[in-house]
Amino acid sequence: MVIEVIIGSHVNFNSEQLLGSAKSAVSYGANTFMFYTGAPQNTIRKDIDVNLTEEAFTYMKENGIDIKNVICHAPYIINLANKEKEESWNFSISFVKNELTRIKKMNVSYMVLHPGNSLKLDRMTALANIAEALNLILEDDSPMILLETMAGKGTECGINLYELKEILNGVEKKEHVGICLDTCHLNDSGVDIAAFDDYLKEFDECIGIDKIKCVHVNDSKNVIGSHKDRHANIGYGTIGFDNLINVLYNPKLKDVPKILETPWVGDYPPYKLEIDMIKSKKFNPNLEADLKELYK
Ligand SMILES: [Zn+2]
Repeated sequence: MVIEVIIGSHVNFNSEQLLGSAKSAVSYGANTFMFYTGAPQNTIRKDIDVNLTEEAFTYMKENGIDIKNVICHAPYIINLANKEKEESWNFSISFVKNELTRIKKMNVSYMVLHPGNSLKLDRMTALANIAEALNLILEDDSPMILLETMAGKGTECGINLYELKEILNGVEKKEHVGICLDTCHLNDSGVDIAAFDDYLKEFDECIGIDKIKCVHVNDSKNVIGSHKDRHANIGYGTIGFDNLINVLYNPKLKDVPKILETPWVGDYPPYKLEIDMIKSKKFNPNLEADLKELYK
């Protein structure tokens, strides 16, 4: 039995907005994608163009991309965990609110968010701050916010099931908050991806597997528990190709979009060839040479 996989990658969001993102996704052979509405490192954002969005919908329909599987990612610099500097906490809240409004205009249902950094705060206060911020952000018709599982670099929050559950417990509109797994972050936080089914079982008991709405599929440059967060190309890291294939084709996550956030190889995006590997379930040991050939 062949299990169809919902697979895409991080794509650009340029002057053509959602249409440009969809075009990139199709060029990679993807059937979904993830985008930032501007640069991941800043919060400068343009208004959403209605005409380009309509064009994108038509183009996506023609190319087998269902908008319900498309993911937006909030910029990295948003921090809901620490409100010692009240202006930046308030700014983060209003930015996320506006971002949800922007993506709603494009019928996008999910926004991935790094839960935040506790900085000098104790963990429990930081987790409570995140929940409080989410309660100020979410409205009855908000798209869903997906808290991402983090590697535990610096003072990142959301680095284990306990912390994620603690945040979720404090949220009032629980149906508007889900989880995005990241295989590199899980590995670096101490989860063995070779025993992914055990992790899913634990996740189900603690949080409920239905909360998983997206999986970032990345290999890792570092060993389990390193708390580093450096992504590697599929099969080129410590997790390994077969373990990632098992995540991608796990029947329990069949309807969940999988997104590659793997690094470019030299000047080239690796996604077309990585998606080829995933579709054929066959590792390509010549990624760099084949990309040079493909994009020459
Ligand atoms: Zn992320």
